[in-house]
Amino acid sequence: MTARRIVLLVLDGVSDRPCAALGGRTPLQAADTPVLDRIAAEGICGIMDTIAPGIRPGSDTSHLALLGYPPEKYYTGRGPLEAEGTGIRMERGMIGFRANYATLKGGIVTDRRAGRIHDTAPLSRAIQEGVDLSDYGVEIQFRSGAGHRAALAFRGEDLGPCISSNDPKKEGLPPAEIRPLTERLQDARTAQVAEEFIRQSSRILKEHPLNRERERGGLPRADIVLIRGGGEMGHFEPFAERYHLTGSVISAATLITGIGKVVGLEHIPVPGATGSANTNLAAKVSACLRELERKEFVLLNIKGADEAGHDGDAEGKRDFIARMDAALEPLLDRQDCLLVVCADHSTPCSIGNHSADPVPIAIRGEGVRVDAVRQFDEIACAQGGLHRITGGAVLPIALDLIDRARKYGA
Ligand code: ZN
Ligand code: ZN
Repeated sequence: MTARRIVLLVLDGVSDRPCAALGGRTPLQAADTPVLDRIAAEGICGIMDTIAPGIRPGSDTSHLALLGYPPEKYYTGRGPLEAEGTGIRMERGMIGFRANYATLKGGIVTDRRAGRIHDTAPLSRAIQEGVDLSDYGVEIQFRSGAGHRAALAFRGEDLGPCISSNDPKKEGLPPAEIRPLTERLQDARTAQVAEEFIRQSSRILKEHPLNRERERGGLPRADIVLIRGGGEMGHFEPFAERYHLTGSVISAATLITGIGKVVGLEHIPVPGATGSANTNLAAKVSACLRELERKEFVLLNIKGADEAGHDGDAEGKRDFIARMDAALEPLLDRQDCLLVVCADHSTPCSIGNHSADPVPIAIRGEGVRVDAVRQFDEIACAQGGLHRITGGAVLPIALDLIDRARKYGA
């Protein structure tokens, strides 16, 4: 008997270094995690360099690596992935950007998040409908993301991704001019198109009723769109063709959703953004269980630990891990399923950023060689039977365990 399905559960940024606030333990060591520990005890464990030893992964490059799309070949910047994640259908050659709404006063950026504005769909719709770049032979796609975020994409001939951002990066400065970052004509043309987009969209925002309403309510206006992270959409061999597996992605982060979608996983939206962290976690786990009824692979990403790491909040990270652990319990019941639990990178509270420290990984399911590790954490897992692997090895190992790998040689 072997397991027949795979759940790749990525606990975003859960991995850490020893924290002074936790008496020299990591948040995973300090948290009460009976479910994760049971997965470790009933599975095979190891540590993992998601990309390679000494490389600090982004969440985007690490997830590409985990899905078996080497980032050095497939990664073309965050923009196109973020655009796909907000619902723009990115086609090969399109140029995508991350975007956000910001407030201007007297030509100066006074709030780079427009007072953390949300529900911006009417603004984005007005921009989508009102901006006309046909003089440049360019079509635009513009969509709201979560909160103050949005995404922009250009479709047209002879466009390049290498242009500077208009985001001044800090408040109290005017928006920067968008310039080409290379000598290529395509980048020069895209810089012009982007400047024209900013001009036209600013005019639309100026008159928009939602902004007048915000003004009356004493809230910062959304006066300008700041864009960054440009990249050209590449070609991704579909997941189903590469692995002969059907698959879904469940994630609250548009970047991870976008990565899942560009490789051809079906995005399963999970409501519950209004609920507490607990209800949302439970809803994601139930959605995962539902997907397993009809799919052979589910990528489930849980944010939260990463944010606490960026905030340097070791106790908050420990407490989130414990809450998350409790929500994961229903996953233990699926006997026909290979459960792969890992982080995409470490986010040590001591540095407030991603680090290259390897992350713990555990694989539980029918047929795995259970090792002596009894706890899911950075130190215990280093003693496990997987030893030290790279992110690119995860899917090949999982496919072999569910007996879906092809033989190399005769
Ligand atoms: Zn991450
Ligand atoms: Zn992060």
